[in-house]
Amino acid sequence: MELCDEERVLALAGRSAGHDLSVLVARGRCSHRRPGRGAQRRRDTIAAEPVTCRAALSTALEHRLIDGRAFAAELLDSVRAEVGDLRSRGQEVGIATVLVGDDYAASVYQRRIDRHARESGIISRPVGMPADATFGEVVGKIAELDVDPEITGILVLRPLPDHLDDARVFRRLPVLKDVEAQHPENAGLLALGMPRFVPSTPAAAFHMLDRYMVSIGRDPRTAYDGLDLVLVGRSNNVGKPAAILGLQRNATVISAHKHTYEAGRLATHTARADILIVAAGVPGLITGEHVQPGAIVVDIGINPVTGPDGKTRLVGDVDTESVLPIVRAVSPVPGGVGPITDAWVLRNTVLAARAVASRGR
Ligand code: NAD
Repeated sequence: MELCDEERVLALAGRSAGHDLSVLVARGRCSHRRPGRGAQRRRDTIAAEPVTCRAALSTALEHRLIDGRAFAAELLDSVRAEVGDLRSRGQEVGIATVLVGDDYAASVYQRRIDRHARESGIISRPVGMPADATFGEVVGKIAELDVDPEITGILVLRPLPDHLDDARVFRRLPVLKDVEAQHPENAGLLALGMPRFVPSTPAAAFHMLDRYMVSIGRDPRTAYDGLDLVLVGRSNNVGKPAAILGLQRNATVISAHKHTYEAGRLATHTARADILIVAAGVPGLITGEHVQPGAIVVDIGINPVTGPDGKTRLVGDVDTESVLPIVRAVSPVPGGVGPITDAWVLRNTVLAARAVASRGR
């Protein structure tokens, strides 16, 4: 039995919303309109002709891209409403982002936060410090922001220059304004399942996944039960908190990292993932060979790549084109987790402001 392009894709994916695979495959039929023709044609009535179900194919593939912008817009709407409410009660909401040096991705991120904050009625204070700023100067700036009543959230952007130790700097953050949960106290509270703040990137990944799971009919209370969740990357700000959030949802969590890759074992683990979350910072690390049919893939990587035209653009860690025909869904870069992350930082800044308001400061 010969399958048309879309049937092949569906067969690879194993399952797909709205299509009864067993019927499609058993009958060898394509129920889609052939491009440029008025009548709906059946695969078995045109057996001698080459099958070109491209329109249906690209629509089916497009449906596999999870649109983070829609989720972000929803979150930003609720942030705006909350900010309005707090301001009407005399409580300002303000975020300071501290960038030391001029890392490209971090400065793009700082500009995005600044724009979204101002559009949401949040006071925004983007702070730039030179790449050779000393530890004393950086923690001095943090101390200044700590006593600023207009600032309810402080975010120190990574990567910090090599001469600054992340952990030493984060320990100097005021815990109630530490909206990325970078301070050990906030990281510990998250690990124990009683977070003050959930760090924005892993929170964004699960915000997206939780909603996607419900959209495919999983019960929100048991959506991850029995599923293998494989993480690529184990950084303190993304991979480790994502592992904690996965465990809290009852997934079976496997944490892969650089040493897994160097041991040649990355695909062994990723290829068994029902859900694969990738945050390695390596463009195109995950290809079709690393994923199993029907997997749900979340690409967190943001990597600046300079094209032949000399222009820099941002790409993810997943080769989306190569995994798309195989997986059930993949979040793209750009337009996936990134926009939700921006909104989540502001959501945490609102939470911090709410806590200030309820303490009556
Ligand atoms: P990091 O450098 O702190 O950590 C990278 C992790 O990936 C490490 O645990 C390392 O062991 C692992 N790794 C590196 N190379 C690997 C390989 N070849 N195979 C398997 N694992 C490998 O980076 P990070 O801060 O966690 O960020 C990771 C990526 O996510 C970056 O591209 C970053 O720009 C992006 N990021 C995106 C957002 C967002 O909002 N979408 C936010 C933060 C970070």
